[in-house]
Amino acid sequence: MSIAVLGGAGYIGSHAVQALIKKGEKVVVIDNLLTGHKEAIHEEALFYEGDIRDKEFMLSVFKKEGITGVVHFAASSLVGESVTNPLKYFNNNVHGTQITLEVMQELGVKHIVFSSTAATYGEPEETPIKETTPTNPKNPYGESKLMMEKMMKWCDEAYGIKFVALRYFNVAGASLDTSIGEDHTPETHLVPIILEAALGKREQVSIFGDDYDTPDGTCIRDYVHVVDLSDAHVLALDYLQKGNDSNIFNLGSADGFSVKEMIEEARKVTTKEIPAVIAPRRAGDPSTLVASPEKAKEVLGWKPQYTNVTTILETAWAWHQSHPNGY
Ligand code: UDP
Repeated sequence: MSIAVLGGAGYIGSHAVQALIKKGEKVVVIDNLLTGHKEAIHEEALFYEGDIRDKEFMLSVFKKEGITGVVHFAASSLVGESVTNPLKYFNNNVHGTQITLEVMQELGVKHIVFSSTAATYGEPEETPIKETTPTNPKNPYGESKLMMEKMMKWCDEAYGIKFVALRYFNVAGASLDTSIGEDHTPETHLVPIILEAALGKREQVSIFGDDYDTPDGTCIRDYVHVVDLSDAHVLALDYLQKGNDSNIFNLGSADGFSVKEMIEEARKVTTKEIPAVIAPRRAGDPSTLVASPEKAKEVLGWKPQYTNVTTILETAWAWHQSHPNGY
């Protein structure tokens, strides 16, 4: 009885591995290390380096380790890049998931917890966003994740593979013991970029657009702590193991913060100046994404403990200060 964590060397995957191991699961990490870090892999997890699109590799690991469930993070996840290179997203994300599902179907593995995204909603018709809010992705990244969800839905109908899709809002923060954190090259996410500017590693933060239809003109996002998010994966796996039906949950805080507000809060947390300039809008960005996380709380019993922007920034800042050059 082992759980395969695909992409378990990545930012969110490595935190979820920590949570699964804490819960007592036997974890097998599969990662091609293209964006993940070997140093982020938990010492108690078994590690196989390889690509989820390599079916022979996947079949051999799943057979050897007796995989009974999958937690799937292995995907490309940059909105801007997906707009200029959509085929990369359809190949890595959609094709990668197809191979994963083929392997699960062939070996009779029935449970998958899947890393989905608020980007499936596009520019939402209502706020806060519920799971019933219509999906209408505005970029190929969100489209690829919605396609992956739909593949799982049909595989449930045909083969009884049960899935939980967790639609993340903006994940940030770091493990409370600062052992793991966020380290992307190049970095594109707002919180680490702000903190790199606080460390003096970059001159300034570019604010992508201040002419959105929001109170201060900058985009509003809902920030969720990576440790709380990881706990939701443990709960989702448990939910499937108890025999429940496939389901979709939003993971966010129900609170929206603008880009300018995040920079302001980071100035308080770090006591650094953090220079910022207004830059053009980034392609594919919706103006406002705020979750209703009520369903995850009610059905999964999810109780986020660290999800407020101050704690998110404090833990991320502790990681950045202790790892100024990443892993
Ligand atoms: N953002 C920004 N400057 C940056 C990086 C991001 O203004 O250097 C904005 C981005 O336009 C979005 C928000 O910050 O409105 C969060 O972006 P991020 O890439 O962190 O996450 P996403 O919302 O794309 O998942």
